[in-house]
Amino acid sequence: MDLIEFTKKFPDEESCKTHFKALRDAQAKKCPHCQGTAFYWKNDKEVYECKECHYRMSLKKGTVMEHSKFTFREWYIVFHLMSSTKQAISASEMQRQLGKKYYRGVWEMMQKIRDVMGQRDGKYKLKEMVEVDEMMFSTDTEKEDDEPNKRGMGSQSQTKVLVMAESSEISPEDGDKVRRHTINKKVGHIRMKVIKDMRAATITEAATAVIDSGSGVVTDGCRSHTQFKDVFAGHEAYVEHDKREVVTKKLPWVHVVAGRCKKSIEGVHDEVKRKFLQFYLDEFCYKFNRRYFNDMFDRLLLAASSCVPVFRHGYGKSASV
Ligand SMILES: [Zn+2]
Repeated sequence: MDLIEFTKKFPDEESCKTHFKALRDAQAKKCPHCQGTAFYWKNDKEVYECKECHYRMSLKKGTVMEHSKFTFREWYIVFHLMSSTKQAISASEMQRQLGKKYYRGVWEMMQKIRDVMGQRDGKYKLKEMVEVDEMMFSTDTEKEDDEPNKRGMGSQSQTKVLVMAESSEISPEDGDKVRRHTINKKVGHIRMKVIKDMRAATITEAATAVIDSGSGVVTDGCRSHTQFKDVFAGHEAYVEHDKREVVTKKLPWVHVVAGRCKKSIEGVHDEVKRKFLQFYLDEFCYKFNRRYFNDMFDRLLLAASSCVPVFRHGYGKSASV
């Protein structure tokens, strides 16, 4: 959806609220009080009322907007900008676009949406052949937890990330679009997970949470991957001395997507702290995984209207990203 279409479809608060209510009406809802599933809509109060126990809940309850003071239209604008732009958008840019005085609320709003994106991708597992490798991402050190960092004053540290990408050999049926690519494999879905260390147990746990056990995994055969043969249907480990050969022929996509993701994060967001890196990775992967869809706004809205973020107000007070 382009900007013209967006402003036509959602010119004001009422149009956004009506649209959001239609989404909520169509979804299964559960009363948090008695677990009832049948509701009346009380038009005067703009709440759903449980038919059993008369518990009332707002339109925003049980969605990404729960507890939010932002208007529906402000949320819709953020959904639109986060789903329609190819590059990531910084919270300060979003603050400017919304004309908001305070940065923090806008930043939290965006983190909640990234959180929902991650939860959505978490519903699916990577399948068939999956490239797996560990990468280092630059993050800000966290020792200043109680004091917001001054821009440029934080010191950099490296955070380990497990990068996983479905990849397969290119077949003639893929057509010219794929074949013209310089890489000899094609990529499917991707995921990235922050990991605390490189121990085999840590990496196996992270990989099995994301990759279907019936899949085959492709790695550079380092010691952290020793358990893969026990938990996946297959494990191709390439331990050739020519590291570059392995990267370009066997593990091209984990390196390509990690490179793009780093560039995107470093180019847009200043000083991402380790504890928030996962949210930015989730946004990158979510958008990458839907790169061929032109209804990303609708998809994002559907996810956001049925999912409560783990991210809460006040989470990591000192964040200066
Ligand atoms: Zn109830």
